[in-house]
Amino acid sequence: MSKKLTSRSEDYSKWYNELVVKADLAENSAVRGCMVIKPYGYAIWEKMQAELDRMFKETGHQNAYFPLFVPKSLFEAEEKNAEGFAKECAVVTHYRLQNDPDKPGKLRVDPEAKLEEELVVRPTSEAIIWNTYKNWIQSYRDLPILVNQWANVVRWEMRTRLFLRTAEFLWQEGHTAHETEAEAIAEAKQMNEVYATFAENFMAIPVIQGVKTESERFAGAVETFCIEALMQDGKALQAGTSHFLGQNFAKAFDVKYANKEGKQDYVWATSWGVSTRLMGALIMTHSDDNGLVLPPNLAPNQVVIVPIYKNEEQLEAITEVVNGIVKDLRSKHITVKYDRRDTLRPGAKFAQHELQGVPLRIAIGARDLENGTVELARRDTLTKEVVSLDGLTDKVEGLMTEIQESLFKKALDFRDSHITEVNSFEEFKDVLEKKTGFISAHWDGTPETENKIKELTKATIRCVPFVNNEESGVCVYTGAPSKGRVLFAKAY
Ligand code: AMP
Repeated sequence: MSKKLTSRSEDYSKWYNELVVKADLAENSAVRGCMVIKPYGYAIWEKMQAELDRMFKETGHQNAYFPLFVPKSLFEAEEKNAEGFAKECAVVTHYRLQNDPDKPGKLRVDPEAKLEEELVVRPTSEAIIWNTYKNWIQSYRDLPILVNQWANVVRWEMRTRLFLRTAEFLWQEGHTAHETEAEAIAEAKQMNEVYATFAENFMAIPVIQGVKTESERFAGAVETFCIEALMQDGKALQAGTSHFLGQNFAKAFDVKYANKEGKQDYVWATSWGVSTRLMGALIMTHSDDNGLVLPPNLAPNQVVIVPIYKNEEQLEAITEVVNGIVKDLRSKHITVKYDRRDTLRPGAKFAQHELQGVPLRIAIGARDLENGTVELARRDTLTKEVVSLDGLTDKVEGLMTEIQESLFKKALDFRDSHITEVNSFEEFKDVLEKKTGFISAHWDGTPETENKIKELTKATIRCVPFVNNEESGVCVYTGAPSKGRVLFAKAY
């Protein structure tokens, strides 16, 4: 195994980059801003996908797939959305290459093969989808449409970071169509709730639900709901968003339906998405200086078993016992890997599994065979104990729940101890300097003040939280009246 990671206190961002690469999650590619997600990283993403997909279906959604390319004329139809994304768009202008007459062995764009209309590589799919929905919707009987798409999108980001912000990323995007405003708002809120439940129960990441201010709102949305998480370095991360789109896209694409009275009306819309950024959230919430720490729900292998032996005979005897353990654990739906590679010493295997965040390691040697025991090592607490083979499956099953819950509690304690209420701008700046995290403060509700504070401190309003917001006061910056506290933070 390669040498230790840079510690978090030394250089958090270096620690993050090293961990992503050394734990074999992803690496930079030959394409600017685009990453390669490696099998181990992809296995974790697949676990997230599977659970989210289950939750989407449970709430009545179906999957579909729409084109990667959006003709420019469709893309520009909803003006605000187009304007918001224009600066980040990759655009296809030609459809053919040819041999370059001036440079043997090289290719060039065929000037004859210019597209009549440019194609935008989707940065988000509202335009192409609403252009399609136009043909799907005639009457109230066609509503609601509850569709999700698993896809890749491209946003030409300038400052990219593995998982957190890449030019191409994987995500899901839900796009729904409704008869009424109330139904669409309820859908957008429901999906934000689904994200919050997923983040907390599955990923063990505590999140704050709220609504974005105008300047942080999705381009083309009437309202953006979000879940915000706090990373160990005290910076916030937007972990998911759900948008109430009003009738903006229906108007842009002329999507009307005949209501029960036979009257024509525009359809109401939502869209919602989470991306591979969640991998970044996972890493920065739980991991430590020894590497990745995975909640059992997300671990490709929840348990690894490492044999410790001196000769073939011992290995065989150990393997016989291990086969029984593996069978018992699998019968309880615990994923387990028996690591009997003979190319690595046990110590090197321990180090690798620690770096890759396997929640529980079982080591078993010749003496354990004699005593009917194994050694358990927890990744989250780095504690070890010797336990009896009798009742091992129940013990491991119990530990899976315990580790999942204890990771959530640890993250929650950290988050809650990093929300500071402030009542003056001096205090605001002071907290940002010393402690970071979320700052709960009164704000006068204007984009001007929000911008000014951002300019002066780099902190932005992460959200107006749904809960705990019913208290009037005065803005920390201008002293103007405020209807409730909002959460500021420096953010990824
Ligand atoms: P949006 O469509 O802008 O509301 O974003 C949907 C989700 O994708 C949010 O959870 C964002 O945090 C996430 N996201 C936005 N841009 C990127 C990016 N460049 N790389 C990874 N995730 C992103």
